[in-house]
Parts: sequence; structure tokens; C-alpha cells
Amino acid sequence: MIVADRKPLDEILNSIKDCDRIMLAGCGGCVTICFSGGAKAVQLLASQIKIARKKQDRPIEIIEVTPERQCEYEFIDALAEDLKSVDAVLSIACGVGVQAMTERHPDTVTLPGLNTKFMGYPVEHALWDERCAGCGDCVLEWTGGICPIARCAKKLLNGPCGGSADGVCEVDKELPCAWQLIYDRLKKIGKLDNLKKIREPKDWRTSTNAGQRKIKFEEAML
Ligand code: SF4
Ligand code: SF4
Repeated sequence: MIVADRKPLDEILNSIKDCDRIMLAGCGGCVTICFSGGAKAVQLLASQIKIARKKQDRPIEIIEVTPERQCEYEFIDALAEDLKSVDAVLSIACGVGVQAMTERHPDTVTLPGLNTKFMGYPVEHALWDERCAGCGDCVLEWTGGICPIARCAKKLLNGPCGGSADGVCEVDKELPCAWQLIYDRLKKIGKLDNLKKIREPKDWRTSTNAGQRKIKFEEAML
């Protein structure tokens, strides 16, 4: 899932400082699961903004909405009528949601209330770890299901680097060395031979390095 974190309140307040009436738009998808942008987050942030603006002696009106998914036009086109009366939308969806709102409602300014971080997995309650960087050419088959792109600080395809020690990454002592994890996993599944092959440099054109990517599912066009 996409994991996002709320921007600091001061930054949010500054972005809407000229607004008297806004729509605060959450999303019922990923950001609801990671607590940063669901209906409860909308409620909480709306209260915080109203209190802060009251203290500034500049009250603000807020329309609170949480479409099922902010990244799909089916769910956000219905907001058009309400948008006529607001100065801006403050979106607490991921960056895709913010851009979807901007594209579907070009006459309204949509401001981001979250920092979209990564695609991750909940390793424990309320704690998400990055697992995929969307490189566009998955190598998990030969790394034992552990991603060296998202989880190795140097994105090494032939690891570990010389700094790995006691299973810990030299870049951040709080992180396990991804290549130690890969080694342990390959050993467990009897695939250590995978490490004997030197991997050629990756073709990063499948990642964001070659600009915006598109996917068209031909089967769905039938
Ligand atoms: S190899 Fe690429 S596609 Fe596969 S998990 Fe890692 S970043 Fe994601
Ligand atoms: S210590 Fe491991 S995870 Fe850290 S940069 Fe080196 S190979 Fe990558």
C-alpha cells in the first residue's frame, strides 16, 4: 500500500493562510489504513485547523469529505458542486489523489496535506516499512523475495557492500542490511547459487528515471 505522513500543522496552516473556506478531502484507500488521510484524520485535522485559526482571530469554514478513493474520477467528480464555494481543497490523500483532484477540477487549487513516502507493509501495529520502490523490473525472484532496491541504502544489485557488519546496514544502524536478509533467505530456500551470478547493471529506464510511465492493459480493452 501507499504510505503517507501528514505534513506539519504549521506548513498546512501556511498553505491555506489566504483561505476563508476550504474543502478538506481525505481518501478511503491506503491513507485510511495508515491513519494519515481517512475520515478520522479529516475530522482531527479539521478541528486542529479551526482551533488554530480561531486563535489567530481568523475563523475558517471547512467542508469535510472522504471519497472512497481520491485517485479515481468516479469518486471525485461528485465533489464538483461543493467545490464552487471553496477557496481551495486541502487534500490528505497521496500525491496521486492531489493530482487527480487537480486534473478533474482544474478551476480549483488543490493543496497537499500529506507527504507521500513509499509503498510499504505494516510490520507491526501502526508501523510501516518500505518494501517496493516501483522500479518497473522486479528482481525479487533471484533475491529470495527481498527487495534490494527499496531496502538497501545503496540499491546494490550485487551486495552486500563492504560496510555491512553483524547484519546491520552501515548507512543506518537501525536498519538490517538488506543483503544480509537476502543471503539468509536464499540460504533457507536452498538458492545460495543465485549469489554466484554477477548481475548486470539494471536498466533504470523502467523506473521513473525515463520520465512518467504508463501501463495499458490490452486485455481490459476487449
Ligand atoms: S525489485 Fe523493483 S518492483 Fe520488485 S519489489 Fe523491488 S522496487 Fe519493487
Ligand atoms: S550495509 Fe547492506 S543494506 Fe546497507 S548499503 Fe551496504 S549492502 Fe546495502
